This record gives sequence, structure tokens and C-alpha cells, in this order.
Amino acid sequence: MKCFGCYKKVKEGYCLDCRKLLFNGLRISHILPFDPPNNETLAEFQSYSQRFSISGVQLKYSLKLKQNELVLTGSGGQYIIKPIPLAKQFAYLDAIPENEHLTMQIARQVFKIPVAANSLIYFKDGSPAYLTKRFDVRPNGGKFQQEDFAQLAGKSSDTHGEHFKYSGSYADIGKLIQQFVPASVIATERLFTLVIFNYVLSNGDAHLKNFSLIRNDEGEYQLSPAYDLLCSIIHSPGESDTALQLYEKDHDAPFYSKYGYYGRMDFLELAKQIDIIPLRAERIFQQFISKKDNVIKMIEESFLRDELKAIYLKNFQDKIGRLAS
Ligand SMILES: [Zn+2]
Repeated sequence: MKCFGCYKKVKEGYCLDCRKLLFNGLRISHILPFDPPNNETLAEFQSYSQRFSISGVQLKYSLKLKQNELVLTGSGGQYIIKPIPLAKQFAYLDAIPENEHLTMQIARQVFKIPVAANSLIYFKDGSPAYLTKRFDVRPNGGKFQQEDFAQLAGKSSDTHGEHFKYSGSYADIGKLIQQFVPASVIATERLFTLVIFNYVLSNGDAHLKNFSLIRNDEGEYQLSPAYDLLCSIIHSPGESDTALQLYEKDHDAPFYSKYGYYGRMDFLELAKQIDIIPLRAERIFQQFISKKDNVIKMIEESFLRDELKAIYLKNFQDKIGRLAS
């Protein structure tokens, strides 16, 4: 069997590393003691989700560890689960948990991007959910202060209309990082890595609220671990390649004007605008091309069904092809 956290070979459930990462080393079953929400139980489930703003169709529920079991909770949640959404307007929604898990694992294992600890987990009826550990909860209770980039930019539906989280650019996020984060060189490079990651893995939903700063114990802001990464094009084939522009007027740049999509020059211009040293930017960029085979291998190892592995792979290869041109 494969570990439901990292795909490593394991006898059953989660490997030791994943148990340490997710459950303080405890042996937790990969099967939850209850069924997913359905039309009858949805209302009850919703009482465990009041703390979250529900973004789009993906419902999120709060869990905590009680003895050796994960249980739904209204307060003191340590984990979030996202079951298969009940909505119908998107494609292949039943594979969202496997998709998000795979994309987060590629970020973590192939590109060494700090991400929220995560795994797959299953309801009693066998249907999958994506499980993630909250990084804003302190180990002994209490919370680290977290602010997303819509808040940091002062954007809300009141100030920028209903699509406020899609207004602005990744360069704007970089400039806010420079303003708020003492260790901004590391943080802007991580942002740059994530922007390219989202592009090559076809995550078109990396909007302002999907990036956050979090205060550490010294009270200093740093970029939070990455979260909500998935190959969104599988579910929403007509969407644009990126949720935000790379930088202002980027569509007038020579490469984009010619081809109608971003290429190497566009990303390097973003790096320049957020003061990343050109040599570092080039190195970050090149790893996406040099680690191509590692990504392909991980897609193959994932829990996606074959049909979706093929779609995932094709989108990845298309985007890598664009970067190489
Ligand atoms: Zn594992």
C-alpha cells in the first residue's frame, strides 16, 4: 500500500513521517468514523464550518483529535477537511481531494515549498476528503495571527467589488511582502517560486486570499506555508491561466503580446519588479524545467484515476513547453 500522506510504501494507513507531521506521531486511522455530508446531513455539517469563509464550491469542516480519533468540532479545530463538493457546475469534482493532495505533495516533495501538512482521508462510506492541519493554531492552543493579502492590501467587496480577491497582481503581493516582512528576500523568492508553480501546475485560482502572512513567536511577519494548491483547470477548463496578473500591464509585454500567454521573459520581469537578483530568479525558474521528470513520476504515483492522471499530465506538459520557449 501507499501512504495516504506522501505515497511512500507502507503496510497500512500513514507512514511514521506523516504521522509525526500530522498527528504528533499518533496512529490515526485513514478512515473517519462518519459519513460525508449529504443533503440530509449538510445542515449539521455546516455547524462545524462557521469559522471559515466558504470559497466557491469547496466546503470546509473543522476537526480535532479526541483520543485517537478525528472528530468534527465547532471550536478548537486543529484540522480542516474538504470532502467532494456537492455542486454540479464543474467537471470531475469527485477527484478534487486527490487533485489537491497531489498538487500539495508536488509542491512539498519536488519543489521543497513549505506547505500546510496534508493527506488524504476517507469517510466511512469510502469517499475521499482532503485533510490539512491548521498552521495558524499553536501546538498548545491559541492562534498565530494570520492575514491574507486581500486584508493586507485593504481590499474587500466594499472597496473593490465582488471580485476583489482577483484584483491586483503578484508584483503587488511582492511589494507588500517587502513592506511587512523583515526577512523579505526569502519571502519574495518563495512567492516567485509559488507563482511559477501555480502556472506550470495549472492552478488558476491563486488569488489574493490564497497567500498569507503569519506572525511568528517573535512577532515578526513571515510568508505562511502554501495552501489551497490544485490543478484547477481540470475542474474549470475555460478559466484563465493565472488568478492575478503577474504585474501591471504585463499583457503589453513583447512575449505575451506575441503568443497570448506568459513565457520565461514575463516571469523574469516579475522577479525584477520585486527585486529578486537575476541569477536567483533564473535558478528558481530553471528548476521547473529540470525537475519535470520528478513531477511526472509523482503524478503517476498519485491516487488520481488514470483518466485524470492523463489530463493532469497533459496540462503540465503544455505549460512546461511554454516556459521552455
Ligand atoms: Zn507518508
